Parts: sequence; structure tokens; C-alpha cells
Amino acid sequence: MTNESCTHLSAIAEVKRPSRLECSECIKIGARWVHLRTCQECGATLCCDSSPNQHASKHARATGHPVIASAQPGERWLYCYPDEALAEY
Ligand SMILES: [Zn+2]
Ligand SMILES: [Zn+2]
Ligand SMILES: [Zn+2]
Repeated sequence: MTNESCTHLSAIAEVKRPSRLECSECIKIGARWVHLRTCQECGATLCCDSSPNQHASKHARATGHPVIASAQPGERWLYCYPDEALAEY
């Protein structure tokens, strides 16, 4: 997990996995999602940018939490929004 342009990714020692496979914000409003992402700062699981509500990137902008992990089964990657950096783990 090394990416020289991003210190956020290398700071993650243990990757947070989703506690539930659903977008906590979409559930509240009855919306659908496409893929799920888990915030590596607070553990919130939210929907991806292909989803109509893009809750994961809205969360990142609103909170300043930089890094998400894919919450899709079998996918093992992290993404940092401010640095647009991707890393597998
Ligand atoms: Zn970063
Ligand atoms: Zn959502
Ligand atoms: Zn967060």
C-alpha cells in the first residue's frame, strides 16, 4: 500500500469493512444505490459516484474524511478523494 503522492492511504493500518451492506443515507430516503464504499475515518458505508445520490463523495466533501474503501465483496482497494489516489490492499 504505497503511493508517494498520498499520505492518507499509507496512514491506514487496518482497513475498515462495512458493518452492513447498505447505504445508510439511501436507506433513510428510500433511494437506490449502485455500489457501496466505506469511509476509512468513521466507518460509514455510503453509495458510490455511479449512484444517483453519491453519498460517499458528498460525505468526503462535507466531513473532510479523505479515504474510502470499496465495500463490494471481492474488491480490495482504497481511494483518496483529495489526492485522487488509488491503492490495493
Ligand atoms: Zn490522500
Ligand atoms: Zn446513498
Ligand atoms: Zn467518514
